[in-house]
Amino acid sequence: MPQLLLVEDDPAIRSALVRALTERGHGVRTAATGMAGLQEAVDGRPDLVVLDLGLPDMDGCTVLSMLRAVSQVPVIVATARDDEREVVRALDAGADDYVVKPFAADHLEARIRAVLRRGGASEPATVEVGALRIDSGAREVTLAGAPVELSRKEFDLLAHLATKVGTVVSKRELLSEVWHQPYGGGDKTVDVHLSWLRRKLGESAAEPRYVISVRGVGVKLIDPGS
Ligand code: CA
Repeated sequence: MPQLLLVEDDPAIRSALVRALTERGHGVRTAATGMAGLQEAVDGRPDLVVLDLGLPDMDGCTVLSMLRAVSQVPVIVATARDDEREVVRALDAGADDYVVKPFAADHLEARIRAVLRRGGASEPATVEVGALRIDSGAREVTLAGAPVELSRKEFDLLAHLATKVGTVVSKRELLSEVWHQPYGGGDKTVDVHLSWLRRKLGESAAEPRYVISVRGVGVKLIDPGS
C-alpha cells in the first residue's frame, strides 16, 4: 500500500483528502506546516508527498527545495493560486506534478498513480555491479554467487550506493537517505558502517574493490572489473 504524506494547513481540506485517499487504498500521514512536513518526509519515508504551496510558516517552494536537497521522493504540489509562475517555480524546484485547487479527489488520485508508476519504473529491484548482486526487493546480496550477510544499515547503505553506480555519493546524502539525519549526525557513523560493509565484501579502505572513498567528497560503488 503506497504511503502518502499530505502537507496541508487547511484542516477541512486535510480531513477531506485523508478520507478520500484512504478510501482509495493509500496510507496517509499529514503535516500542517512546512517544517513538520519536512520532518515527516524525512522520518516517515513516504512513497509520495502532496504539498500545498500556501503554508503558514514557509513558502511551499522553499519546503520543496529543502526536501530536494535530501530526498528524491515524488512530490505533487497543490496550489490555490492560478498563478502560472508559481507552478513553474515549483516544477523547477523539483515537483513531479501539480494540481490546482479546488480539485476533485479522483483527479489527485489519477495524478498520484501516474507519478508512482513513473517513479516505480526508474528503480530496478536488482542491481548487478561486477560479481556483486544487490536485490532490494528480497534484501539479499551475493558476491560471485555466495550470499553476503549484511546488517540492516549495511544493506541500506549498499543499496543506496547501488542506485548510483559510478557516482560519488556524499556522506551527507548517506546520512540523510540511510540514517534519516539530513541536518546533522556524524561522518563517523558512515565511516564505521562503510568499514563493516567493506570487510563483509572482502575488501578494505587500503585495498578497495567495490567501495571507493573519494577524500573530502564521499564514496562510490564501482565495478572493479571495468
Ligand atoms: Ca494552504
